[in-house]
Amino acid sequence: MIYLDNAATTKPCEEAIEAAAKCMRSCFGNPSSLHKMGIEAEKIITSAKKTILNRLNKEGEIFFTSGATESNNLAIFGTAQALKRRGNRIVTTAIEHPSVAEPMKILAGRGFEIISIKPSEYESPQLFEDALIDAVNEKTILLSFMSVNNETGYITDSNRIYKAVKRKYPTCVIHVDGVQGFCKVPISADLISLSSHKIHGIKGVGALYKAKNTRLLPIVYGGGQQLGLRSGTEPVDLIAAFDAAIKAYPENFTLFSELRHKLMLLLEQLDGIIVNSKNSVDNIVNFSVIGIRSEIMLHFLEEKGIYVSSGSACSKGKISPVLEALGVSAQNADSAVRVSFCRNNTANELEILTEALSEGIKRFKR
Ligand code: PMP
Repeated sequence: MIYLDNAATTKPCEEAIEAAAKCMRSCFGNPSSLHKMGIEAEKIITSAKKTILNRLNKEGEIFFTSGATESNNLAIFGTAQALKRRGNRIVTTAIEHPSVAEPMKILAGRGFEIISIKPSEYESPQLFEDALIDAVNEKTILLSFMSVNNETGYITDSNRIYKAVKRKYPTCVIHVDGVQGFCKVPISADLISLSSHKIHGIKGVGALYKAKNTRLLPIVYGGGQQLGLRSGTEPVDLIAAFDAAIKAYPENFTLFSELRHKLMLLLEQLDGIIVNSKNSVDNIVNFSVIGIRSEIMLHFLEEKGIYVSSGSACSKGKISPVLEALGVSAQNADSAVRVSFCRNNTANELEILTEALSEGIKRFKR
């Protein structure tokens, strides 16, 4: 089996599995309990918070959630609710994950003015970033964008945007969906959404980083855990695995750029390939196999034990609006394939992938 769909999810690493199992066996107390077992569980949570803050290179608070979908919802609805008296303008992009895009639609229905900026309307990523910065005005309570896009790997420079926006409008809250960027690119924001299962942790846990003094209201009410911002008993075992997965995730390693370089060379030798990833992280390569629909190629590769994603993420027969907003034509989006690496992939696997692609092209090309 060759797994090249790591932007969808990653295999839990041994360190994460071990940490979760150890926690379930011997540290299963409720972190809110006042006795020793509760205190031990609380220590695991404190340690994981420290690990996340260290990796983000930030000071501030960490709130654990059920995943980045919830983190994004908490960041967006929580800010809108907390700051609605100050303004009703929110700036975002046309390439967001549905867990940002859908809350934005709901807020639009509640009377918020949602400004959505599309990269394809600008000549360069820098001009797109300038447009995001320029769209913020004194009425803007929230700017929300992703640091790395999940479909093509497109990078938006949050350091640059954060500095420019805060210089002019220090009270505008900046939220970054950091799911695909965490451990890969630096992230600057007041609120950062993270997901454990994208970095070899376990599904069902995520986090929201919150800078000190950033106002946020809860979206879930109950027992008042996590300073009342996210009620519910914390999944200590999943949090322990999240902590272990981050510690096991290498810093500054060159494997992804080597794999990308290799894949680009191999793809150049095939007929009719168009690379859709531009300005992107090394671990995500989206390309189109002209004339062959994504699903056809995906299932052909699957028969050979190779797992990739149909980069177009079609819903109800419609082409992904995200690929369109990133400047990919409808025809190319219809034949898009997304390959995404993790640290367990090898150059040899990419050779096997491109041999299979070549066979598929011969078989299906009209
Ligand atoms: N944002 C991005 C950019 C993602 O890729 C994903 C996962 N596909 C999410 C948010 C949602 O994360 P989770 O699966 O943890 O809810």
